[in-house]
Amino acid sequence: MAVYLKSESEIERMREADQIVASVLAAVEKAARPGVSTLELDRLAEELTRQAGAVPAFKGYQGGGPYPFPGSLCTSINEEVVHGIPSADRKLEAGDILSVDFGVKLDGFYGDSAITIPIGEVSETAGRLIEVTREALELAIAEAVPGNRVSDFGDVIEDYVESEGFSVVRDFVGHGIGRALHEEPQVPHYRASGNNLRLRPGLVVAIEPMINEGTWQVETAEDGWTQVTRDRKLSAHFEHSVAIGHDGPVVLSRRPEGE
Ligand code: MG
Ligand code: MG
Repeated sequence: MAVYLKSESEIERMREADQIVASVLAAVEKAARPGVSTLELDRLAEELTRQAGAVPAFKGYQGGGPYPFPGSLCTSINEEVVHGIPSADRKLEAGDILSVDFGVKLDGFYGDSAITIPIGEVSETAGRLIEVTREALELAIAEAVPGNRVSDFGDVIEDYVESEGFSVVRDFVGHGIGRALHEEPQVPHYRASGNNLRLRPGLVVAIEPMINEGTWQVETAEDGWTQVTRDRKLSAHFEHSVAIGHDGPVVLSRRPEGE
């Protein structure tokens, strides 16, 4: 298993890619309101990305579906878990929750992050699912310290999420990231045996818990890409790209305070 450790200067280049991802996600969050289509959000993201001199990483991506992924964003609404395809026909409605996953390539390195956005007023359950997913990611990030193991991420996420009555998607995992969008190691968000790589400075991982209201099980929708919960209950997703620093986690895709 090849695990690529990054130098400090490489991590700074990755931070630049991730900061573009973060600012695009912030713009998408601002634009996401009832009546707006997911294709409009996709166009906004692609335009901002190219203005910043970067390339959308998911557009044309091969390997997760029967044809290259057509969008710059993955837009997944309500029971859609991940890999939703932006569409002019899919207009946001008040009460929806919209997961937006986004990556760019800049100067040879990838950035990757995801957020879930409540559209207008959402149900109490939807709001709680979003907060639990966001907090699960933060608990995992706190484990990104030298000497811990990859399996520590899934341990803290699963324990917390299940104590809140929700479930952790198992079919999709986080990943190392760098010169490739998906590098070793795989990062399960559930308790898993056999993934005991020790975290070392220079390792960069994308941690991205997908948390479901009901069953953890997912299935593929008719478009061949979109993943939906098997029971059609809600799902939320947050992701950050995180470098293991000598002194602890360095969240490359987090925007500076106050922006
Ligand atoms: Mg992502
Ligand atoms: Mg990812």
